[in-house]
Parts: sequence; C-alpha cells; structure tokens
Amino acid sequence: MSTSLKNLLQKYYQHLALFKAFTTALGLMSWDTETYMPKQAAGDRGQTQSLLAGHIHHLSTDAEFVNLVNSLMDRGDKLSPIDQRSIYLTKRSLDQSIKLPKKFVEEMTEALVASHQAWLQAKEQNQFEIFTPHLEKVIKFRQQYAHYIDPSQDPYDVHLDTYEEGLTTKQLAPLFSELRAGLVKLLPQILDKQSKAKQQHVDILNQYPLPRYKLEPFLRELCSQIGFQFSRGQMAHVEHPFEINISANDVRINTHFDDYHSSFTITGVIHELGHGLYEQNIGTEYLHTEMAGGASLGIHESQSRLLENIIGRSPEFWQFCWPKLQALFPELSKHTASEVVAGLSFVQPSLIRTEADEVTYNLHIILRMELEMAMMRGELAVSDLPEAWNTKMQQLLGIKPTDHRTGVLQDVHWSWGNIGYFPTYTLGNMNAAQLWQSFVKATPNWRAEIAAGNFESYFHWFKQNVWQHGAFYQPQQLLKKVTGESTNPQHLLKYLESKYL
Ligand SMILES: [Zn+2]
Repeated sequence: MSTSLKNLLQKYYQHLALFKAFTTALGLMSWDTETYMPKQAAGDRGQTQSLLAGHIHHLSTDAEFVNLVNSLMDRGDKLSPIDQRSIYLTKRSLDQSIKLPKKFVEEMTEALVASHQAWLQAKEQNQFEIFTPHLEKVIKFRQQYAHYIDPSQDPYDVHLDTYEEGLTTKQLAPLFSELRAGLVKLLPQILDKQSKAKQQHVDILNQYPLPRYKLEPFLRELCSQIGFQFSRGQMAHVEHPFEINISANDVRINTHFDDYHSSFTITGVIHELGHGLYEQNIGTEYLHTEMAGGASLGIHESQSRLLENIIGRSPEFWQFCWPKLQALFPELSKHTASEVVAGLSFVQPSLIRTEADEVTYNLHIILRMELEMAMMRGELAVSDLPEAWNTKMQQLLGIKPTDHRTGVLQDVHWSWGNIGYFPTYTLGNMNAAQLWQSFVKATPNWRAEIAAGNFESYFHWFKQNVWQHGAFYQPQQLLKKVTGESTNPQHLLKYLESKYL
C-alpha cells in the first residue's frame, strides 16, 4: 500500500474515532436519561443532547471528510476487505446526510416532535382524529425523504434499506405473504387443539409476586451462565426494556422489573440478553470500524427472539431453570416446569402486539406492514386507517378492537416516523427459526445440553457463525453463508407447527 493511501486511511480512522467518541457520549447520556437521571435534569439533558447531535451531523458531513471518503472509495481495490467494507458503510450513511437539504431535515424533525405529542394525546383521549393531520404529514415527509435519497426507488424500499441493508419490497412481500398464508392456516388448528385439550391460559410466573431483590441476582447469574460477561456489561431497571452498546466492553441490557408480572421481567431479560451477547462477541478486528455492531435489525432481533422464544420458552430450558427458581421462591414448589412452559406458550389472538404470543405476533406485524406500505404508496388515506386496521384485525386474528387505544393508536412507531421498521421484528423471527435449524443440525445433543443448563454449544456456534462477524456481511449474505439460503419463512412455520401441533 502506498504511503499516501496509508495516510488517507489513517485520517479516515482518526475521524471515525472522533465521531465514535461523540456518539458514545450521546449513547451514554440517552442510557442515563432512561435510568438514573433526576427528573428535573430533562431540560438541560435535552439541550446537551441536541447540541451534540448537531455536532455529530456537522462532523459527518464535513466537506474534507466527504472528499477523503470519496477518494478512498475510488481506490477500493487497493484496500483490505475490512477497510473496503467500513468505507462503504461510511459512504452509505454520508450519502443519506448529504442528500437531505438542511431545511427539510429541520422541518421534518419539528413535524415528528409534534406528531409524537399528538399521538400521546390522541391515545390518551382515544381520538384518532387528533393524530390524523400529523400522520398525514409524517407520511408526506417520509415520501419526500425517500425521493431525496433515491428518486428511482420505491419509497418504501428506501426506508426498508435503512434498517435492513439491501432488502427490497420485491423480496420482502412474497416472504410475508407466504408466512401470512401459513399462519392463517396454522392458527385455527392450534386453537382447536388447545380447546380440545381444555387448556387455559395460566401464567404461573405472574401468579406470585417475585420481588426484585431476589429475582435480579437470580437473573444476573442466569445471564452469566448463558455467556454474558458482567465485567464488560451492565443490567439496569427501565420503563421499556432495551439493550445499548456503549462500546464492545460496555454492553447494557436494561429491563423492566415488575414484582407482579415476572413472566414479562424474565422473558424481557432473556430477550435483551440475546442482543447483548451479540454485541459482546463482535470480532475485535472490527471494533475501530463501522462494522462494530450487528448486521441489521432483522439479524439482531433474530438473536434476541431465538433466545427469548425458541430457547427461553422451551421445556428443556425450564427443566434446568425451574428447580433453581423454586429453590429461591418455595411458594412455587407446587407447580411443575411444564405448567410454566404451557403458560409461556399459550396461543391466543389478542389486540395488543407487545403482549402477543409467538404465533399471533407475526400477524400483528403483517397487518402493520401492509397498512404502512399502502399509506406510503398513496393507496390508503390516513383518515381511512382505523377502519382498515379493524378490518385486517378481523381477517387475520378474528377479533376487532373496541377502541383506538387498543387498536390503531397502540404503537408509538409511526408517530416517530418509523416506516419500514415493523417488518424487521418478523424478519427476526423468521431468521431466528432458520438459524436455529442450522444450529440444531450441528448440535444433535442440544436438548440434553440445555436441559442441563449447559449453553456452551449454543454460545460457541452463534459466536462463530453470527456474532463475531459484526456488520461485515450484508444481512442476507450472512444468512446465506450460515444457512445456505436467504430468509425462508418455511423454517418459522415448521418450527411453530412442530411446537404447537
Ligand atoms: Zn429486541
């Protein structure tokens, strides 16, 4: 490599390091905002965060840096694959910042703040009309946004690509309609089987108060046993669970401790742990590059959902976990592990997405994707959204909300302008089942291992095949490399069928 190219590369990584220093500070602040920040600091914090965010934008659109990245792109063939990929990812996000006029960004930001406020009010008062003009604006801004980024593409594709690099509606739509058809067929069969067995929904974990001071140490130990390193991570209490990667050596899994709804607490911890394990195990060769994070939301979510649903709701997992929990809470001793699994796996069409079981959950997502796609294409007017929502609920889940709070107004995402985000949840479920299939093939003894609380095979297989690669591969490339094919809904359908029928 020539000296001039070496110098350019050095400058590039120096700039990236500076950029990362600012985003780290911002990340830590937003984590603190959700955890320990005193209430009255909200105003000051907001100001600091917005100043920092402005500076980050300035840094990322700096003309000298843009030129540097462009000249490195031109000499890509002389760079290592790691440098090439990092520079490509920088260029990808630079393009997005550069293509948007400053005035447009300011107007959109303002509209999104107003739209979120309107959504809060509309939900509280159960009046969709309060939100209507705001959501209309959000859709318009999102269409315009897509036009600025790439006028030759379907606007929905531009948004999809933000979360799932390289994914288009053309690829996604057939996957979702195949899954839709399979689920619509599967659901009545499962419900029929449950009712014939006179099964009722009894969630043992929610029937007894399991106080945090005893449950938290138990869950920390469980996380360690599965592979989370607390010397490089943290766990905190928050209102809405999330995971955040401050750096590879500082990964925070945050959960909501609710003494009276421990089912939610426990599955929530396991879910965030899946995200955390991914982040803690990205290869050190990527840590100073753009690849120091997951491949995409759909791959990240596959890791959390795999651990939460496929492992965390399995009989094998509870065979090992239940006696330990019973030893800690003797009041649980009259219940068996299979009662717990039955409670965690009960299928029941319900109105609220976040409370849905692993079968109906995907129908909630399909509904949202079909509706947001139609709005983005101008095929559905926002004023007709509530009716369209209710009709689809009836078609897909056989139930209808009686008010907007439990219907069209339940999710915050659209008020924040997140279009093309919902599908990543179901992509995560499909990818999870597909990766799991490959893991099972490679680990015929997995049942006995997990039943004995031995997570070594799980940890090493996923570290080697998924986690260590960070964002080096595009999501679909990674899946093909590991499983031999791109996302295929049949794996999820087969998993659900063999678990529930
Ligand atoms: Zn998640």
